[in-house]
Amino acid sequence: MKTAVVVSWLGRMLPPACPLCGGTFFVLAADPFCPRCMATMTPLPAAQCSRCALPFVASSAHTSHLCGRCIQAPPAYAMAYAAALYEGPLRTAIRCLKFHQRPNLDRPLARLLEARLPAFLEVDLLVPVPLYPPRLRERTYNQAWLLARELGHRRRLPAAHDVLVKCRATEPQQTLSARRRRENLQGAFALNRDVEGKKILLIDDVMTTGVTLDLCSQVLLAAGAERVEVAVVARAPLS
Ligand SMILES: [Zn+2]
Ligand SMILES: [Zn+2]
Repeated sequence: MKTAVVVSWLGRMLPPACPLCGGTFFVLAADPFCPRCMATMTPLPAAQCSRCALPFVASSAHTSHLCGRCIQAPPAYAMAYAAALYEGPLRTAIRCLKFHQRPNLDRPLARLLEARLPAFLEVDLLVPVPLYPPRLRERTYNQAWLLARELGHRRRLPAAHDVLVKCRATEPQQTLSARRRRENLQGAFALNRDVEGKKILLIDDVMTTGVTLDLCSQVLLAAGAERVEVAVVARAPLS
């Protein structure tokens, strides 16, 4: 008993371990990772698409404007928030959360995302992008739901895991061309709960082409949602 008390006391006294690299650090800032890991995470540049947050990384643009894709075919969601670029250690952290059974990365990654969001969110409900049920059983958790739940907890906003459902298996998006990605996911998402009149923040871990978030937003808006915005931890540059 005494040993347990000492261990618990020591645990509180010792600096925490960084959830990404394991190194210890003194918590002086509100950052969820150690200063070395934080320094490797690239925030989105100020110049980005004002609709889908596509970073204009290699262009000479200095101000935000709509990207070519959003001009040609605007997505259903009103705007997108992303904490940082999908590269380096952040990419590793997200892949660990998603594919390597590290659900404990949900809190630090949700904190990273929260820091990017406006102080006041005009949102009624946080909704995660769903996983196909057999995939969910295999992984045992939906990483988007873990992020939405944590974000909801921190911002005192309701979050629900069962608003959207993925009703069929699809091929992995990263193996497909942009056009095939949309065909692959067409009709794959359905509604499971009333969202009439609600302002929704749709949550996912990564946004690449944005097709998944666009199709989920279409389903929510078709069911009467007033507005859909999206928030992701990481945004991939155009591939
Ligand atoms: Zn670290
Ligand atoms: Zn765009």
